[in-house]
Amino acid sequence: MAIFEIKKYGDPILREKAKVILKVDDGIKKLACNMLETMYSAHGVGLAAPQIGVSLRLCIIDVDLNKKSPSVMINPVIVSCDENKISGREGCLSFPGFYENVKRHDGIVVQYTNLNGEELEIEVQSLFSIAIQHEVDHLDAKLFIDYLPEWKRRFIEKKIKRNRNAGNW
Ligand SMILES: [Zn+2]
Repeated sequence: MAIFEIKKYGDPILREKAKVILKVDDGIKKLACNMLETMYSAHGVGLAAPQIGVSLRLCIIDVDLNKKSPSVMINPVIVSCDENKISGREGCLSFPGFYENVKRHDGIVVQYTNLNGEELEIEVQSLFSIAIQHEVDHLDAKLFIDYLPEWKRRFIEKKIKRNRNAGNW
């Protein structure tokens, strides 16, 4: 297994729509293992393949503090959403140090393929649901700052630019 460098905001791959995975082969399994190791070492609860520079529709999520039940989702598709929205403080491994409130659907139904190549459909809520929505957004080139008011997004971008100029990004 290997720990990858996590791409930060500003890397063009984060704004690329990721490609559908056609076959769950050893390469995909290895990618998932490396992503898990990378996510846990960065203390994250979710990671999408584009964040380590691989433009494929694969994401991993583990909102359990014990870090024992990760979900590996291949080609996830959100097929339905609750009307009800909840607001929660979100961060992103591609935006180290930034946390903002984002409104998302409480309950969703998601279809995906697991590492055994089985197609599954699950209904989830709250934290797990929010994490899936965040990661599926990554696969569609959407980032959590896109939900913020423009002034706030500009403020964050300015701060990141300052960090970058100082060599801290
Ligand atoms: Zn993220």
